[in-house]
Amino acid sequence: MGGGRGSRSRPRYASGVDAPPENAPQRWLAAARREDVVAELECVFAYIAAATESRRPVCRTSGRCCKFEEWGHRLYVTGLEAAYTIARLPAPLAPTALDDARARGGCPFQVEKLCSVHAIRPFACRVYFCDETSTEWQRELYERMLREIRAIHDRHSIEYRYAEWRELLGMFVT
Ligand code: SF4
Repeated sequence: MGGGRGSRSRPRYASGVDAPPENAPQRWLAAARREDVVAELECVFAYIAAATESRRPVCRTSGRCCKFEEWGHRLYVTGLEAAYTIARLPAPLAPTALDDARARGGCPFQVEKLCSVHAIRPFACRVYFCDETSTEWQRELYERMLREIRAIHDRHSIEYRYAEWRELLGMFVT
C-alpha cells in the first residue's frame, strides 16, 4: 500500500487530537495562494508526473482506490495540500458533500469512477496505483516526495500537519 494511502493500522488523525492552532487553515490557505510556495509544490507534482510517465504503472480507472472503506485504506495529506485543493475549487466544498463522502466511506471529489479535482489533487493520489508490480516503486517515491513537501513547509515556516484527507478538508468547510 503506497505511502499516504495508508492501511487501517496507521494512526488516524481525529478531531480534537493534536489539533492545529485555530487559525492554521487560514494560514494554509494564504500559503496555498503564494506564488513561491505553489511553484515549489507544483514542482513536486511535475516530478511525480515525470516519474510516473517513466515507470508507467497500470491504472484501470476502476475508481476503487478512492473508496477508502471498500479498498481498506486511508488518504493522508498535509494541511498545505488540502488548502491547495480547496483554494482552487470552482465552488466551495459543501458540508453536506463531505458528510456524504464520510457516510459512503469515500472521497467528496469522486464522481462515479473519476476524480473531479484531478489537476489539483493531493500528491498521494498522484503516486498511488493499484498495480501490484509497482508497490515498492510507489513506496519509495512516496517517502521521497513527502520529504520534499515537508521541506516546503519548513522553508516557508508553514505549520506542518499530516492527517486524514476528510479530517483536514473539514477544517476548511463551514
Ligand atoms: S482527490 Fe481525486 S484521486 Fe484523490 S481520493 Fe479524491 S477522487 Fe480520488
